[in-house]
Amino acid sequence: MSSLVLRDAEVDGVRVDVRVEEGLITMVGPRCGVRGADVVVECGGGALLPGLHDHHLHLLSMAAAAASVDVSGGLDGAIRSADAQTLPGAAIRAVRYDEVRDGPLDRWRLDALAPGRAVRVQHRSGALWVLSTVALQEVGAFEAEEEGIERDDLDRPTGRLFRLDGWLRGRLPGRVPPDLAAVGRRLASYGVTGVTDCTPAAVTAYFEPIAGAVRSGALPVTVWVTGGPELSEATPPHPLQQGPVKILITDHAFPSLEQVSEGFARAHLAGRAVAVHCVSRAGLLLALAAWRAVGSVPGDRVEHASVVPPEAVASLCELSLTVVTQPAFVAARGDGYLAEVEAADRPDLYRCASLQEGGVAVGGSTDAPFGPDDPWVAIRAAIERRAASGAQVGSDRGLEPATALDLFLGPPEHPGGPRRRVTPGAPADLCLLDLPLRTALLEPHSGHVATTIAGGRRTYTA
Ligand SMILES: [Zn+2]
Repeated sequence: MSSLVLRDAEVDGVRVDVRVEEGLITMVGPRCGVRGADVVVECGGGALLPGLHDHHLHLLSMAAAAASVDVSGGLDGAIRSADAQTLPGAAIRAVRYDEVRDGPLDRWRLDALAPGRAVRVQHRSGALWVLSTVALQEVGAFEAEEEGIERDDLDRPTGRLFRLDGWLRGRLPGRVPPDLAAVGRRLASYGVTGVTDCTPAAVTAYFEPIAGAVRSGALPVTVWVTGGPELSEATPPHPLQQGPVKILITDHAFPSLEQVSEGFARAHLAGRAVAVHCVSRAGLLLALAAWRAVGSVPGDRVEHASVVPPEAVASLCELSLTVVTQPAFVAARGDGYLAEVEAADRPDLYRCASLQEGGVAVGGSTDAPFGPDDPWVAIRAAIERRAASGAQVGSDRGLEPATALDLFLGPPEHPGGPRRRVTPGAPADLCLLDLPLRTALLEPHSGHVATTIAGGRRTYTA
């Protein structure tokens, strides 16, 4: 591995040189000297930050989404034109269906839009797939007895499949390997050097393409993976890092307190924390009850925490739980929330500042591809807290810009914990901006990322 010197960078407000050797920062100070350096990066006083860590996303879904039809401009038109442009017999995969914008969707509507074709449409949340009749036949949904296959009064599948990603994946014909290299390039361009993939995978084979892409350098980030309860005791393939166990509490199939507690206990017994998907008030209260029953361990966290009633903030703090939030949902979906979410829940939407004030650690994430994959969009949204229409979302005030940035600078195993630092001995995972930090934070934007260094290697240059 090579050595590298970053000359005249702003680190913690001071202009310094930074030397990197064998993937580690070895020196930070005025005039380290460039002797023996294979690469010299002139920073011109730009801020040098630890590389950003996205604490919750889904890598394979990001790769698949890039090769899919986006229906966010209107479902009917998008499916009809994809049908006209796709070879007969080939399937269509579409993403970002929204029931409020597009209306109810079932297989009969898809059959009318693309007659005789296998069409799969993913809900914008990722929790639901809607399949056309041919697509249902291809995956054997008519004969299957999976719980997530919705059926009508005549016991016919409606085409709506809830939380059946793993089941579907094993049944889809002729899949092409996902292009994780394109995902890697995008992440590097945002200054991201680490991610936590929060997919509740049920088999370790799910992680193989990700591990392969990291090993080959195509995906130049450190990847932590969760996996679902089935993988509580499993070790992910090298070089993936083991994160918490992902546990879903979904509102369409509400688990019992006993089931949730058992999942927590199993993970804890295996020496792992849990990352619990909670998107409603009831879901959060159930998770908190389970934590009170079995106790919490360091690293236990709530994913999304979309609705947090004020009285739950103290419980989150008492149990030392971390919240991993997605500030960009406020910007991207805020107007929808204000229209759909019950009035009583609206002040409690996507808390951030009030959680921190209540002593709760908060980490940031994008939940890509279900939210925009650029963390700087999330940072801006955490500051502004406004929907696209300009409406304020939730009762929380916005974060100070530096605090919003810190959502992505905590350690992977402790989102919202003490900000990582550019200091000797730390891994050379770095994000160089083209401006001093104060100026960059006036209008946070990924366009300010000049260079990204991951594991001592340059992975992006503007
Ligand atoms: Zn997610």
